[in-house]
Amino acid sequence: VSSRSFDAIVIGAGPAGEACAGQLAELGLETAIVERELIGGECAYWACMPSKALLRPGELAAETARVPAVSDAVLDPPAALRRRDEVIHELDDGGMVTWLEERGIALVRGAARLVGERRVRVGEELLEARRAVVLAVGSQAAIPDVPGLRDARPWTNREATTATAVPGRLLVLGGGVVGVELAQAWSSLGARVTLVELAPRLLANEEPFASELVAAGLRACGVDVRLDAHVTAVRRESDGTVTLALGEDGAEELAGDEVLVGVGRRPRTEELGLEHVGLEAGASIAVDAQLRVPDHDWLYAIGDVNGRALLTHVGKLQARIAAAHIAGRSDAALRDDGPPPRVVFTDPQVAAVGPTLQAARDAGVRAIAVDTRIDKTAAASFHGKGEDARARFVIDADRERLVGATFVGPDVAELLHAATIAVVGELPLCRIAQAAPSFPTRSELWLALGDWPTAHDA
Ligand SMILES: Cc1cc2nc3c(=O)[nH]c(=O)nc-3n(C[C@H](O)[C@H](O)[C@H](O)COP(=O)(O)OP(=O)(O)OC[C@H]3O[C@@H](n4cnc5c(N)ncnc54)[C@H](O)[C@@H]3O)c2cc1C
Repeated sequence: VSSRSFDAIVIGAGPAGEACAGQLAELGLETAIVERELIGGECAYWACMPSKALLRPGELAAETARVPAVSDAVLDPPAALRRRDEVIHELDDGGMVTWLEERGIALVRGAARLVGERRVRVGEELLEARRAVVLAVGSQAAIPDVPGLRDARPWTNREATTATAVPGRLLVLGGGVVGVELAQAWSSLGARVTLVELAPRLLANEEPFASELVAAGLRACGVDVRLDAHVTAVRRESDGTVTLALGEDGAEELAGDEVLVGVGRRPRTEELGLEHVGLEAGASIAVDAQLRVPDHDWLYAIGDVNGRALLTHVGKLQARIAAAHIAGRSDAALRDDGPPPRVVFTDPQVAAVGPTLQAARDAGVRAIAVDTRIDKTAAASFHGKGEDARARFVIDADRERLVGATFVGPDVAELLHAATIAVVGELPLCRIAQAAPSFPTRSELWLALGDWPTAHDA
């Protein structure tokens, strides 16, 4: 067994691990990163990037249909799949190797296991960390315990984002972000999609109006959305058809060519050697505000693996904080600003930050909602006819601060960051009222907040 030592060792080169290694190197620390598959992780090849590549052509086609004086666009599914392949670099991470080399980061290919404090084994090599080990091993699709499901060879996000042909009929289990986005994408490319959700609404953690508009959008593009629907058994027939039985008596059956499971994620901590450092294999890794594992001052966990928020940009923020802390910035800490910014790239899109009205009230905030319509702004005239686009601001009435916002409508993702800055920056509403949104932009929806607090004191 050969050995090498570094200031810091990062395990996992997804977006969180990469960002952390890059920042550590920038701060002058001798850094190694270990990756067992592709540099770029789930996000670059099987999640964020391919899903958005598959969604974009349909979104653009829908937009041209909404703007009078533009002919309806014609979608070319094989070309969309080719473009998706370009976006995921044909599953080749060569470009990322160069990125690491340019920063002087040592790349170690292989599966890493902790073998003791500050000690990591990769194949026949032992790596030792003088300061810290950062776990950034991410998550993978959870397969629920439905009889027959595993034997039916279901698609996870991996197959659903890299499929080389459009399935004729696609069954989607789960109406969370993964389920609704991939249902929308494959439906826009020509699949007949049925989406089955156990809860009474899609996107259960978002505002109820977001759930309603996304369900309406999916139905309008031909997706059969089944809510309150319980899948009790799955079967793959000898002719390849997949059958889902619904309800305790299995009275109704749905048939498809493929079934996609989008019902949650589990951390990749089963084969990480966690038991050698007193932690539980298979579970998420709890961390403090510095992203450090309690009682292990040398061990950090960032990104999906700590289970805080399964989003690339959250993992990258955590990466910067962990790297700064490892480099000696003792003031580096994750703030608790409530639920982070998040975008669902369906048509309509849902872009939200902070808690919903109900969640804020449940947390004891004297929260009020200001509801407004994005489609009534002057700029909406140019975004097309017949769109239904709405927004809700959630205000802490005692502190006179914005704590949450939800935008739903076509192409609202880019509206979100202004709200994120207002929430994270804890801007007083009277200062927000001083910011004039440009005319004619849909940001004029912010005028709905009025001249707070004067308008509301009167
Ligand atoms: C379909 C889908 C769409 C999504 N879209 C978005 C989106 O639009 N925006 C967004 O913000 N988020 C999105 N997400 C979530 C996002 O993909 C994740 O939050 C993100 O990939 C997590 O990054 P990570 O670095 O923590 O882990 P990962 O991306 O999972 O990377 C972890 C890396 O660690 C490696 N690894 C694991 N174990 C070991 C080991 N023992 N040794 C060495 N290497 C190891 C893995 O091979 C992998 O490369 C989406 C997720 C899905 C499923």
